[in-house]
Amino acid sequence: MSIQRREDAHTSGLYQKRPLAIVRGDGARVWDREGNEYTDCVGGQGSANLGHGNVAVAEAIAHQARTLASCTELFYNDRRAELYDVLATLLPKELDRVFLCNSGTEAIEGAFKFARMATARTTIVATMRAFHGKTMGALAATWGPEYRETLGGEALFPGTRHVPFNKAEALDAAITTDTAAFVIELVQGEGGVRPANAEFVREAVRVCRERGALLIVDEVQTGFCRTGTMFAIERYGIVPDILCLAKSVAGGVPMGAIAFSRAVGDLPKRSHSTTFGGNPLACAAAIAAIGEMRRLDLARCARERGEQLFDGLRGIESPRIREVRGLGLLVGIELKENAGPAIKRLQDLGVLALGAGPTVVRYLPPLVITADQVDAVIRATAEALR
Ligand SMILES: *Cc1c(COP(=O)(O)O)cnc(C)c1O
Repeated sequence: MSIQRREDAHTSGLYQKRPLAIVRGDGARVWDREGNEYTDCVGGQGSANLGHGNVAVAEAIAHQARTLASCTELFYNDRRAELYDVLATLLPKELDRVFLCNSGTEAIEGAFKFARMATARTTIVATMRAFHGKTMGALAATWGPEYRETLGGEALFPGTRHVPFNKAEALDAAITTDTAAFVIELVQGEGGVRPANAEFVREAVRVCRERGALLIVDEVQTGFCRTGTMFAIERYGIVPDILCLAKSVAGGVPMGAIAFSRAVGDLPKRSHSTTFGGNPLACAAAIAAIGEMRRLDLARCARERGEQLFDGLRGIESPRIREVRGLGLLVGIELKENAGPAIKRLQDLGVLALGAGPTVVRYLPPLVITADQVDAVIRATAEALR
């Protein structure tokens, strides 16, 4: 029986799948069962910044699996201690405490709980078109009434507000002395590849300070070199109170992290926890992955290849294109039409790309993508949009 038929027999049915079974990857290339090669601009939806089949990460995982895979935070562990040290060298010095978890949405859940406990307030303010995950708490901040309708609608999440993204003048009225936290992505990913403007971010920092609300930056997608620096907060010159990380942190192994400052205060013991958080297997993978990001200088790769891709896409003359946007190697083309057919055509031309809202084609390749591969992506896009 085909891979597709076997999956379809038992799948939850929640995912909109493409009829393509990917079985192997190397760097920024992946192959299907029939041996057809694709340039991968989906990049595990942001979890494959390091590229597929990284040997250092594979060996670290294999070694740690033989040594000790499970060790909860009931105990101390050498790999976890080492990962904290490594993260401390990457993060702003103010963000000197870290809670390790297992996914992006879980990092957001924890961040909201921390903010509510720290401020003794309950309201979360987010932005329109935001994406912060789909578990019950994170869903309060994720944009899209359609995700909430079937769950009891907005009444399920009282006190959550969404302000227009990049409208600095809206923040002063929305963030009040009842607000526990304001949460933003510095580049909205799922929401259409929209970089925040500097004024909006500056005003968010100012209003949060003034009202005593915590600032949560969601770098689940933008983190780990994607936008041309280790974290996008460096490009904006800000330090939030809470920084949420996940996706590429452990080179493809599931992991999330919440880094937070002393503004969060002391959290009540046992008020939050997770069995798999900080397990030695994921920690070993993260240590190796971050080592490889540095050795390969993925931040520079993202800047250089990102500029090449951005300029190349900008140079495509097509009446179907409305705008090309991006930061580093997080690039999107907004079309004047539904993006589905263009994404399908790209796949036929050997390039896997993502959507981001109904009209945007999003490129999220592994940061190890080569200049030749970027050229091929630009050529395929020009062909697809002819
Ligand atoms: C993917 C994503 C999430 C959710 O992460 P999951 O690991 O899928 O739960 C949250 N925020 C942003 C910005 C994301 O891109």
